[in-house]
Amino acid sequence: MSIRILYLDDEIQNLNSFKAAFRKTYSVFITDNPEEAIRIIRDEHIQIAIADQRMPEMTGVEFFAKIKEEYPDPVRILLTGYSDLHTVIEAINSGQVFRFIDKPWDEDSVKHAIQSAAQHFETKMELKRKNEELNRALAELDSFVYSISHDVRAPLMAMWGLVNVARMDPDPNLRSELLDYFEQSIQKLDGFLNSLLDFFRNKRLDTVIEEVDLRFLLDDALALHRAHPSNQDVKLQVHIEDQTLFYSDPHRLRLVLGNILTNAFTYQKMNNAEKRIEVSMVADSEKLDFKVSDNGIGIGPEHIPHIFKIFYRADTQSQGAGIGLYVVKEVVEKLKGKIIVESNRNEGSTFHVIIPNHKF
Ligand code: ADP
Repeated sequence: MSIRILYLDDEIQNLNSFKAAFRKTYSVFITDNPEEAIRIIRDEHIQIAIADQRMPEMTGVEFFAKIKEEYPDPVRILLTGYSDLHTVIEAINSGQVFRFIDKPWDEDSVKHAIQSAAQHFETKMELKRKNEELNRALAELDSFVYSISHDVRAPLMAMWGLVNVARMDPDPNLRSELLDYFEQSIQKLDGFLNSLLDFFRNKRLDTVIEEVDLRFLLDDALALHRAHPSNQDVKLQVHIEDQTLFYSDPHRLRLVLGNILTNAFTYQKMNNAEKRIEVSMVADSEKLDFKVSDNGIGIGPEHIPHIFKIFYRADTQSQGAGIGLYVVKEVVEKLKGKIIVESNRNEGSTFHVIIPNHKF
């Protein structure tokens, strides 16, 4: 994409000759009106703003001072003659402008200034992106420390309590009941740690694109759930069309399939006489369409905007860590896909994932 430049000058002739000289190399926007210049900066994602110093309404330096707070991103270049040297030095020293070009300008020195301004812009943006990432990571770290201390400690405390009860009561029947509770706590802990591992795998591992055996992936994910004793009364309907070769990151796809299916089985209505899950997976040369519908407890509209946030649980029935859908969203974003949720409380939910076919 070409560099986007705004040029503000009160002399129409200067504007026109600038545009004529540079429009083939850059995306050039020109205006003689400072208000219009601000609108262009806002709407056109300007990377470099060039202004003439001597204008009747305000000077170039005043214009830059005016936009700096609200639009700090564009790199600012001042066009001026040597008679304004003192102003220029002050403007550069106080960080108002990045460079100045002396008038009358020649094409080469303008090009040179634009190239270094563009580089400066990229460096600034990279720094901004890194800063945002860092802030997000810090916020995640905070939630992690809280969640780990809570979610690891709760089952540990439960087990500790159970050990004490078992010590005090020699009744063998009670012991077997206690062992069941013990197992539940261990499973909870294991589930939590597995979710954390998924989270880190997605974050740290490189994306590896290869041919994916979709049928195998789905069968594998379903087999795990089918085998579980608590899922025996769930009626499962599966539709798969995978005639086209599909390329993606199989390990990440496994995370998406696994988490969405786990939820469809987990959030069934306890006493529903007919628990149902429909799974459809259709791949073509463009994309994979993966859809899971259940007739479970559903999700209230007030929760839907939050379910992809880390550690968010929309229901007390949840025994999970609240990480699954966060990982799903991160993976889907990494694979440049999208996810759509439709859900009604007490009626059920549909999770629809579309992942592009990353053919070579
Ligand atoms: P959890 O580990 O709690 O299942 P997830 O991130 O996978 O965490 O899901 C977040 C929340 O979204 C869950 O706690 C649950 O309340 C809700 N949810 C997800 N999938 C479904 C579903 N199929 N039916 C009903 N609620 C769901």
